[in-house]
Amino acid sequence: MEDNFINIWEKALEALKEETSQIAYKTYIEVMVPRLIDKNTICFLSPSSYHIEICKKRYLDLIQNTLKILTSVDYKITFEAKDAIPENENDDNLDVEVIKGQYGDIQVGNNSINNTNKKIDTKVLKENAGLNPRYTFDNFIVGSSNRFARATAYSVYENLGATNPLYIYGGVGLGKTHLMQALGNATIDKDPSKKVIYCTGELFVNELIKAMLNPNMNDTFKQKYRNVDLLLIDDVQIIAGKDKCQEEFFHTFNSLFESGKQIVLTSEKPPKEINGLEDRLKTRFSMGVSVDIQTPDYETRLAILKKKAEEERYVIDEDILVKIATRVKSNVRELEGVFNKLVAYTKFTNNPLTDAVVDNTIESILVKNTKIMTSKLVMQVVAKFFNIKVTDLTSDKRSSTIAFPRQIAMYLCREVADMSFPAIGKDFGGRDHSTVLHAYSKIKDDYDNNPDTKDLIDDIKKTLERES
Ligand code: ADP
Ligand code: MG
Repeated sequence: MEDNFINIWEKALEALKEETSQIAYKTYIEVMVPRLIDKNTICFLSPSSYHIEICKKRYLDLIQNTLKILTSVDYKITFEAKDAIPENENDDNLDVEVIKGQYGDIQVGNNSINNTNKKIDTKVLKENAGLNPRYTFDNFIVGSSNRFARATAYSVYENLGATNPLYIYGGVGLGKTHLMQALGNATIDKDPSKKVIYCTGELFVNELIKAMLNPNMNDTFKQKYRNVDLLLIDDVQIIAGKDKCQEEFFHTFNSLFESGKQIVLTSEKPPKEINGLEDRLKTRFSMGVSVDIQTPDYETRLAILKKKAEEERYVIDEDILVKIATRVKSNVRELEGVFNKLVAYTKFTNNPLTDAVVDNTIESILVKNTKIMTSKLVMQVVAKFFNIKVTDLTSDKRSSTIAFPRQIAMYLCREVADMSFPAIGKDFGGRDHSTVLHAYSKIKDDYDNNPDTKDLIDDIKKTLERES
């Protein structure tokens, strides 16, 4: 029976590993030692009462359901905290003995729990705050493209609440999330009693929708976001055009602002350039300090690669790093992409890095990016052709002088850049894929049946080919 149960728990662990984030799995689930009390009751021995509290709140249902799927038994689950067990039983060696004696070789009991109590604590706090502890100020490489942003974020950290809000903007993969999370992690390291929440704009929207559907959750939602010392909202531009979200966020913002709590926001663009963002939010977002992060220069790119190699203890020729830094220019995520691919290559093949391998890896990452460039290029060419602004194409404007070029641009993104309808919609100011599909069909039909349209589009295509 016991043996059988150990197998079941091992299977359950496999499933739970899939269902939870890596850090949640390691912190809360893997560390528990199960004991079958009777045929329907399991008691989990857990590192601390704090672990139990979190586990009950977040993972109890999941654990119960997983076990039920595996065994068809509705187990009653109880917990016992290690720190609640009398001293002599909590002795490290004895503890391991007990686990071995009762459960054979099962690996769920992890005797490293005891010696890292403090570490687990801030780790747990960070995890609860939604932060990834990997992002720190220390491993954020400073260069001319991000020096001001980094210095400002650091001074906000040193003086929480004094500059409100901190607004960080810039293109994809340039380090906004890293910097914002570094601020959150450092705040918890300095003072674990500070309540920090990191959340993407997308998550905020999703939680709000859930809360609106369930009046009981509405209060919980409000409490959650208003009851903090530091609120970090990443990619806040996503709330633009969503009335309820903007309304709720406006109140959250005011409540925090008035009580001197720190708000940090990131976005792709400065507030006034976000289409569909309410004016009152534009004003609020511009009240504190706005900083931008730009594309890193060569020295910064090389320094980032060197830092990565050092962190991963990966031995690699400087020449190769120079080559990557020279060729991969547009963002840090791509730099990391190339680097990680090379690390994986070495790990899995054990072969040395040849020039060809390095070149191919760089190409494969850059080619992906060319497609993103193409939607930009299509927009630029089309806008120039019709003598309108690129931002008109992504705007909400509906006049035919704008709508027709926009439809043509969408059509070309599909035809020439081979983009999917949802991807096109996203690049054109977050439009629905059905809107893109409609535009595409309309122009395609026009192209096939109206010689004027055909000539026009063929001309644009030629220009595009020249420009790309
Ligand atoms: P963004 O949020 O602006 O899209 P991220 O913060 O996600 O960009 O950065 C992309 C990746 O590049 C992350 O893995 C991040 O750690 C890394 N990165 C960005 N800027 C730096 C930097 N200055 N130093 C070290 N790593 C960086
Ligand atoms: Mg980001």
